[in-house]
Amino acid sequence: MKPLPPGSVIGILGGGQLGRMLAVSAAELGFDVHIYTPEEDSPASRVAARTTVAAFDDADALARFASQVDVVTTEFENVPADTTRALVNAGAIVHPNPEALAIAQDRVAEKRFFNECGIATAPFAVVDSRADLDAALKQIGTPAILKTRRLGYDGKGQARIATLTDAEAAYAALGGEPTILEGFCAFEREVSIVAARSIHNGFAPFDLVENEHANGILARTIAPARVDARVQEQAKGLAYLVGDALDYAGVFAIEFFLMADGSLIANEMAPRVHNSGHWTQDACVASQFEQHIRAVADWPLASPARLCDAEMINLIGDDVNQWAAYAAEPNTRVHLYGKREARPGRKMGHVTRLKR
Ligand code: AMP
Repeated sequence: MKPLPPGSVIGILGGGQLGRMLAVSAAELGFDVHIYTPEEDSPASRVAARTTVAAFDDADALARFASQVDVVTTEFENVPADTTRALVNAGAIVHPNPEALAIAQDRVAEKRFFNECGIATAPFAVVDSRADLDAALKQIGTPAILKTRRLGYDGKGQARIATLTDAEAAYAALGGEPTILEGFCAFEREVSIVAARSIHNGFAPFDLVENEHANGILARTIAPARVDARVQEQAKGLAYLVGDALDYAGVFAIEFFLMADGSLIANEMAPRVHNSGHWTQDACVASQFEQHIRAVADWPLASPARLCDAEMINLIGDDVNQWAAYAAEPNTRVHLYGKREARPGRKMGHVTRLKR
């Protein structure tokens, strides 16, 4: 593929805040964005040139969308695999490729993939029945975490098993869905890396960052992570392996547990721009959103250099009401997603504090 010229149309599956910020970055590079989402009045559609509101299994709407865009990308990983396959069959170029999405949609496939790349994960076992859970607990021991294989996010779809007496309740809580049992990692910190890879092998990892969660949701990112240079380099090397193995085009993120001995244990990957990369909007040469658009349009990638240190704070639910106080801080940038209603646990915006 030649670099997509400005004026081309970038299709984005999904209409949330990530699609919104991708659309703004695409517009800055002279592209038009066409959002495809089942949601009316989505955050992304309100800044995009066009929107198709249709279900992800609407074959006619997908075929029409494929014929109206020059490349398709995604803003969330739970787009059904059949949707991306239908788009490819209709002649669309889809980045990242459907295989990368499929791996990231299944925690078991994802962990096997990490291990095949030589990347450490928590010990894990597939649990498809109550008997499987007993066998898995015998193998892995406690404490452990039972998670749904698919569609988990922000700590949803998981149950801790501190001792064997918790097994019954954990199994019941996940409602008989296909699950995975993971050994509990007593990590020192949670860190993540966001990296861009272009089709022609450009690779641009941002610095490893440190993440703090509250109620299972990312609350704060500190950039860069307070780790020594060896850990930074190690994380970038692991991200390179992942991007290469997937023949990936676009931005992706890997979340790791940093252990006391300095080793990194991969928890999961996101085949998309990531909340822990939002700080790049204000503290880097080009943001993760611009890098993603450059990568899927086969443009050269910008330097991932960090221009200053930063802290990103998510505005969850009613936190968004503090926008004016944040806006009054001279070195803070405010990013709001235009969501009409601030429900508890809903990501409404974020702010980036620049540290000079
Ligand atoms: P996840 O949905 O896999 O991102 O998990 C949500 C959060 O649960 C993580 O950010 C960790 O804080 C915690 N967690 C998940 N898996 C493990 C594990 N194997 N060991 C320890 N903590 C975990």
